[in-house]
Amino acid sequence: MNATYHQFDFPPYRPPSEAGSMLLRVTHGCPWNKCAFCSMYKKYPFARKSLARIKADIDLLPEVYGRQARHVFLGDSNSLLLSAGDLVEILEYLYQVCPWVERVTSYARAKTVMKKSLEDLEAIRRAGLTRLHIGLESGSEEVLAMIRKGANPEEMIAGSLKAKSAGFECSLYVLLGIGGMELTMAHRRGTVAVLNAVNPHFIRVRTLTPIPKSDIARWIAEGRFTQVSPLVTVEEERDIVAGLNVTSRFLNDHASNIVPLDGKLPEDQERMLALLDKGIEYCRTHEVGYADYRYL
Ligand code: SF4
Repeated sequence: MNATYHQFDFPPYRPPSEAGSMLLRVTHGCPWNKCAFCSMYKKYPFARKSLARIKADIDLLPEVYGRQARHVFLGDSNSLLLSAGDLVEILEYLYQVCPWVERVTSYARAKTVMKKSLEDLEAIRRAGLTRLHIGLESGSEEVLAMIRKGANPEEMIAGSLKAKSAGFECSLYVLLGIGGMELTMAHRRGTVAVLNAVNPHFIRVRTLTPIPKSDIARWIAEGRFTQVSPLVTVEEERDIVAGLNVTSRFLNDHASNIVPLDGKLPEDQERMLALLDKGIEYCRTHEVGYADYRYL
C-alpha cells in the first residue's frame, strides 16, 4: 500500500449503492449518536474537519481512486450539519479537482435539513450535492420516540419535502422490525403515511439486526422488546408495499433483507406483492429462522 492510502481519511460506512463511489470524509462520526438500534459511530466521537484537511483529501482522490469512479459519497453520518458556505466551498473544490464527477451524495438527518433555509439548501444543491440518504426507519411517532430517532413523523416529512423542493434526490431508509411485535402495526401504518406524504425518489429497506451491546439487544434480553420473526418481517413489508401510493424506486438493497426486491412504483407494485406473498408462504411452510435469509 502506498503512502497516499495511509494519508487518506476513509469514511467507515457508506450506503450499498455507493459501493463504486469515491468516499470523502467531511466530518467524523454522528452528531446525534443516540438511536437505540445503531452502533455504527459509537467509537467515532463526532468531530469536524478543517477545510484545509478536507481539501487535502480531495487532492488525493484522483490518486486513491483513479478516474473511473464518477460518483462521490460524503461521510460521515450527517454532512448537512456543515454550514452552507463550507459545503459549497468543499463541493466547488471537489468538482474543480475531479471535473469528471457526475453525482455527489451524503447521509443527512431530516431534522437537520428541516432547520436549514431553502436558500442554503438550493445553494448546496447548485454547488453539486445531488442526493441525500435520509434514515426514516419508521413513520410511527411511537416507534420513532422509542428508538430515540430525534425526529417525529412531521419533522421527517418536512425535512424530506424541503430536500425535494431544493432539488435533491431523496432516498429514504426504512427499517423492518424496528417496532418489534409490540408496535409492528403502528410501524406499518406510520411508515406508509410518511412515505406517501414524501413520495421520495428512492425507498431503501433494511431489516433490523440487533447489534450486540446496542439498546435494542439489551431490551430483547430484558424482555422489553420482542423481535419480529422472519414471517412477520415479510408481512410488515407486504403491508407497507400494498399501502404505497408513490412514484419511487423501491429497493431491498441490503444483505439483511429476506426477499430481494427492486422495482419502480406503481408499475412493479403487483409483481413485488406477489414476491412478498411467495416469501410469506415460504416462511409459513419452512419455519424460516433468523439465520435462514435469502432463500428466493
Ligand atoms: S441511525 Fe443515523 S442518526 Fe441515528 S445514531 Fe446511527 S448514524 Fe446517528
